[in-house]
Amino acid sequence: MSLPRRARAARTGAQPWIAAPAALATVAVAGVLAWALRGHAARIAVVAGVAALVAPILWVIASALRPALPDRRCPRCGAVALVLLRRDDPIGVRCRACAFEDPETYVAYLKDVMDDPEVSGPPTADGTRS
Ligand SMILES: [Zn+2]
Repeated sequence: MSLPRRARAARTGAQPWIAAPAALATVAVAGVLAWALRGHAARIAVVAGVAALVAPILWVIASALRPALPDRRCPRCGAVALVLLRRDDPIGVRCRACAFEDPETYVAYLKDVMDDPEVSGPPTADGTRS
């Protein structure tokens, strides 16, 4: 018994029938653009080259000025209240709003913001934060 066509295509990575015409259309559009812009090749090359040099530098500057923040949204209640279960372990979170707790969830960058009292809450009696 054979799989349905879509399931077989998904398993094997085969493209649907539209892939070949789409590839030909892409080549045709590229050819038309190359023909239409043939007199400006040097200008286009300079602009593309400058963009290739400047874009990564701008990306590094933007990343340094605005570092990534953890997604603290609770998967159960949607409140922005996830905190680490244990301060020294980056795996395991709980929600302060609904008591959701998952010892296997990893939230990127959550450990980096746990020193912020606004995130981790006031210190407890033994000096640690929850
Ligand atoms: Zn919650």
